[in-house]
Order: sequence, then structure tokens, then C-alpha cells
Amino acid sequence: MNKSLLSILLIISSILLSNLALYGIRRKKIPGAFAFSILLIAMTFHSLGYSFELLSDSVEKMYFGIRIEYIGVSFFPFLIMLFAREYADERKFANRYMLCLLITVNIATLVFVNTNSYHFLFYSSVSLDSSLGFNALKLEKGIWYYVHIAVLCFSNLYSIIVFAVKSKKSKGDYRTKALFMLVGVTIPLVVFTVYILGFGPACIDLLPFSYIFMSLLIGVGLFRYDMLFLTPITHEMVFNAVDDAVLVTDRNGMLISFNHASKQFFPSLEGIRAGESIKLIRELFNYDFESYKDIYELDDRIYNFKLIEMKNNRGRLYVINDITESEQAKKQLEILATRDTLTGIYNRRHFMNQIEKDVTQGVFVIIDIDYFKNINDKFGHTEGDKVLRYFGYEFKTFFKEHMVCRYGGEEFAIFIQNDDLDKAFLKLEAFRERIVSNTTTLRFTFSAGMAAYETGRISNTIIEADKKLYEAKENGRNQIRY
Ligand code: GH3
Ligand code: MG
Ligand code: MG
Repeated sequence: MNKSLLSILLIISSILLSNLALYGIRRKKIPGAFAFSILLIAMTFHSLGYSFELLSDSVEKMYFGIRIEYIGVSFFPFLIMLFAREYADERKFANRYMLCLLITVNIATLVFVNTNSYHFLFYSSVSLDSSLGFNALKLEKGIWYYVHIAVLCFSNLYSIIVFAVKSKKSKGDYRTKALFMLVGVTIPLVVFTVYILGFGPACIDLLPFSYIFMSLLIGVGLFRYDMLFLTPITHEMVFNAVDDAVLVTDRNGMLISFNHASKQFFPSLEGIRAGESIKLIRELFNYDFESYKDIYELDDRIYNFKLIEMKNNRGRLYVINDITESEQAKKQLEILATRDTLTGIYNRRHFMNQIEKDVTQGVFVIIDIDYFKNINDKFGHTEGDKVLRYFGYEFKTFFKEHMVCRYGGEEFAIFIQNDDLDKAFLKLEAFRERIVSNTTTLRFTFSAGMAAYETGRISNTIIEADKKLYEAKENGRNQIRY
């Protein structure tokens, strides 16, 4: 076996391992990534130290290689456990005391390796072996070596169990992820068992050569599997799960993609493929893509368009939702809040809000139907309602340009803007005559009081109009007073 070739392999492997460590450190937010990166650095020390050991031919130089190796190897038990614990968030067994115990044993290993010549606790003898055709270190194992191996196996077994449980508990992509890790962490134990049982080549430590496979498997589980497979799947799922239509175009308006919902909104998309113009969507023929409107009505549906420009003019994203129901509900609510249900004309609250908002000058009129109680009493409530509905309709139609309302009960009000009292009176008189000569419902009359409003408080004007209405009633009804 060519020692130089093995050393080169180990150096290449070290470069890959250290790069993967840097990659992991940059992604330290992924659970376990940081512990894995430190483990990779430890492996790098082992590989580099071992390549140095293989290239040397004196016992001293080789042992120097071993010292470098053990900067990493000593801490394997601690780091493997830390990695599995962080990844699976298992803190019951791998608690603080357990980790403290492990790191203490690991520090002891590092110390014993470096001071072996004084006590031979780690290696009981260190000599040269040339039986393979090249010089290799022949190491007789000491007591602490076995302690280290026992601790390493213990921690490796722990990680195997953690990943096995994790993959059993997980589903789908997460299971695949955990399986990658499980195979990854099993490799060192298998290789080590082969080495210990003496099946491998004598005097060659196979473990550093297995690191690259182990790291790649764990790395794929930890990083790449997330990015290569999971992200596009998640993206696709989210894209198609939203109820809004999402259309993506390039800067020339050519469709890049669209989701399932958009086909329900615009069925003609079934016949359109990516790369064709967005303007081919038949349902959007009347939509002006250039000026971009946010509300678009098609047949009896109302759509809301949201346009998102991509950075650097790379394209556009149209997010379209169907707001028909919510718009209708809004309109319905507005009607309920501002209109009187019986007559359909504005209610008093809305009327007052409006005149307080934008009235400058004009005439306020309050109308009260005469002897309305009698209508109810003689002909019933339904007939009474008919009269009110009829009055409301006539009132609204006659004073199309003005603000009218049902003031309450059988009282109505109007604000005739910009007229003086005389002019307003003439209009009201014409209306009174029309009502008196009505043949649609039971015959009835009304009385009205008018007051001019110029400046100041509208409430004073209302009080004044009310007074005049009272006068009209007192004076025999069926008349208008100011
Ligand atoms: P006056 O000429 O003095 O105004 O006499 P009047 O009977 O019209 O006055 P009064 O205020 O005593 O009666 C108003 C009646 O209007 C009493 C009430 O039952 C009736 N009324 C109020 N709202 C409604 C309604 O929505 N429908 C019906 N049918 N009647 C209503
Ligand atoms: Mg009344
Ligand atoms: Mg009345």
C-alpha cells in the first residue's frame, strides 16, 4: 500500500471536511449544524494528524502526528453526543451532567495521550512495525485506551439510537432526512468494529477514510436535503394551496407560472402554457395590464388585483382575489346602516351626518303626516305601512336632487340646499298638492314646518322648523308654514 497516496487522500478529505465545517457554521441556525461543524473540525484534525503520521518514518515524528490526531479524536464522544442531542432536541439522557462527564473523560484522554511516555496509560508500548513493507507505528493498547474506546462506543450508540427513534417517529421527507443521518452515524461504529476485530489491514486506521462518507451523508441529511428537495416542494404546496390566483410573468408579460386557483378564476388558462402572453387569458381581455387597475369586474364577479414588481424589473407577480362576496356584504351593511328599511330612503342618522358634513346654506323642512294614527286604527298597520312606503317613494322621486330622509315614525325631513324660504315653499307646495291628489293609496295629507339655515348650529334650525310644524298642525293641518 502506498503511504503517500493514503496521505494525499487524507489531505483532500481534510480540505473537504473543513469546508463542510465552514458551510455548517454559516447555517448554525439549523438544529445540530453547529455541533456537527465542530465534529467535522475534530475529524479534520484526525485526518491531518494521521496523514502526517503516515508520511513520517521515525517514532517521534509519528507520535507527533498522533498528538495532532487526538486534538480531535479525544473529543469525539462528547461531540457525537452533543450533535445527536442538538439535532433531536433530546435533553433527558444527554443532560448537562452527562455532557460534563464526557468532556472530562475526553480532556483526560487528551492529557494521557500527550503525557503517555511518563505513565503508558494510553499506549503501553510504542514501536515501529515494518511488516507491511513500510514503517508504521505499532501501538500496544493501555488501560485508558480502552476507557476511551468504551466511551466512544457508548456515545456513538447513543447517537444511533437517537437517529433511529427520530426516523421512526418522523414521516415523509423528515424520515428520509433522519435516515440519512442514521446511516451516517452508523458508519464509524461499523468501520471501528471491523478495525478492532482485525478484519482490516493491520496498522492502518480506517476511520479517517470513512469520515468523508459519513460527513456527506450527515451533511445531505442536515443541509442539502432541505434545500434541494424540501424547499421546492413546500414552495409548490404553498403556491397551490392559496385561494388567490397567483400569476407570475417575466418583464415582457409572458407567463412563467400560475397556480391551481388561477385556473378556477380564469378557465381559459387551461389552454395556455408557460411562455405565452398573459394577455391570452380570455377572461382578462378587458383588463388593462398597462395601466394596472386594482378592481376588475367580470360578468357578475369582482376581482381585486395586487401587483408586485420583482426586483431589477425581472418580472411581475399578480395576486388576484375574488372579492364579490365581501363587496356585496359591504354594500349590504352600508345600506343597513344608512337606510330606513320600510321606505328605502335614508334614515335620520345618515341624513344628519350628511348635512352636518357638507351643508352650507339652505332650508330645513320637517314633514308630519296628518292623523296618521287614524289610518292605523281604521285600516290596520299594513295599510299604514303602505302609506309610508308610498310617501317615501314620492318624496324621494319628487326631490331627486335633495337629501331626504325618514325622520322617524310618520315624520320625514328634507334639506333643500341653496334655496331661500320662498323658493323652497313653492317646491313644497307643489309636492303637497301632488300628495293630496294621490289615488294610489288611501287619501292623506301632511303638514310641514320650514326654517332657513345659514350659519351656526343646525339644531337651532331644527327646533325652529319643529315650531313651524306645530303651528301648521294647530292651524288646521294640510299646510306648510315658515
Ligand atoms: P297628527 O296629525 O297630530 O300628527 O296626528 P297623528 O295621528 O299623525 O300623530 P301621532 O304622533 O299621534 O301618531 C303617529 C302614529 O304613527 C303613531 C304610530 O303608531 C304610527 N306609526 C309610527 N311608525 C309607524 C310605522 O312604521 N308603521 C305604521 N303603520 N305606523 C306607524
Ligand atoms: Mg308625529
Ligand atoms: Mg302625524
